[in-house]
Amino acid sequence: MFGRSWVEIDIAACVQNYQILKGFLLPNQEGMAVVKANAYGHGDCRIASALQDAGVRNFAVSNVEEAVRLRKAGIQGQILILGYSPVEAVGLLQEYDITQAIVSEAYGRLLPSADIKVQAAIDTGMNRIGLDADHPQECARVIHELNRKFHLNGIFTHLCVADDASENEFTQGQVQKFREVAELVSDLNLEYVHCNNSAAGLWHNTYGNLVRLGIVLYGLKPAYENVLPEGIRPILQWKSIIAMLKDVYPGETVGYGRTYAVRKPMRLATIPTGYADGYDRRLSNRGTVLIHGYRAPVVGRVCMDQMMVDVTDIPEVDLGDEVLLLGKEYNADDMAADIGTIGYEIVCGISERVPRKYI
Ligand SMILES: *Cc1c(COP(=O)(O)O)cnc(C)c1O
Repeated sequence: MFGRSWVEIDIAACVQNYQILKGFLLPNQEGMAVVKANAYGHGDCRIASALQDAGVRNFAVSNVEEAVRLRKAGIQGQILILGYSPVEAVGLLQEYDITQAIVSEAYGRLLPSADIKVQAAIDTGMNRIGLDADHPQECARVIHELNRKFHLNGIFTHLCVADDASENEFTQGQVQKFREVAELVSDLNLEYVHCNNSAAGLWHNTYGNLVRLGIVLYGLKPAYENVLPEGIRPILQWKSIIAMLKDVYPGETVGYGRTYAVRKPMRLATIPTGYADGYDRRLSNRGTVLIHGYRAPVVGRVCMDQMMVDVTDIPEVDLGDEVLLLGKEYNADDMAADIGTIGYEIVCGISERVPRKYI
């Protein structure tokens, strides 16, 4: 099963990250584990179970399939769907006791009246989902309306630049707008009022009683420039092996499109991992892997299922040797920086065909 391309996930490191993050919570706050997108590619059931054992009672996902899977895996606390669910899902929401975000007033009307928990999303400036906090009275009216139709147990907003210190003013403005709406519905005594994601939980934590911890649970940064608290570390390593070794000479080229020209005698290793595994094609002629602790640059284009790396200067490489695609020395944030994206996209992109192994 393992041996071609696989991921190793350190569950204890995830729990430890959570324990460290707990130190940033205010006395009235709890952490909500954001385990959407298969826990950012790390495996939602395993991650959520471990965090539940560590005391987490709130979980967030992106859709009803994810929510139901967690329930079936024995997750007992609140499971909040952070975005839209089709109205046909209402039966499942009720059956599995799943909390649905209400993304707009119109959506609240469309969703059939049922014995389900909901939370109203509030838009404080991201312009993605939620009731418009620039009209707080309107928000309050809709929230009261939702409270009559469903079991409304909370409201939340999303802070879209909390990872950027130069945008502090905007973030504080968002929190202020949210607070204003929350105060207008204080008569409802809502159980959950929350605005903070990972970045806000670390650097703007002033308000709310839940902090939605996502990327930092996995030991990655909201933005590359960020400095995470001491001890937070990536929990995932991605490994493959050397499938073949080959010497190439000046005049030859490597891979599709002949984008790499050989200029000196070189030794190449072929690695059985490609873009269908989620190894981003933008890493062509750009990424690096580690073999025996040495960096081996990707040469030529990443293929669907394979790629070639330069092992000329690495002593004693052999068929079957382990190749580290992501690890401590070169993690998902580093890979992301190499191709102009974010660590989130790297880990979410590791395909299902790459087995997850828990250590
Ligand atoms: C994804 C998401 C989060 C988690 O964000 P991180 O940056 O990973 O902490 C929190 N809240 C909402 C609404 C989200 O969509």
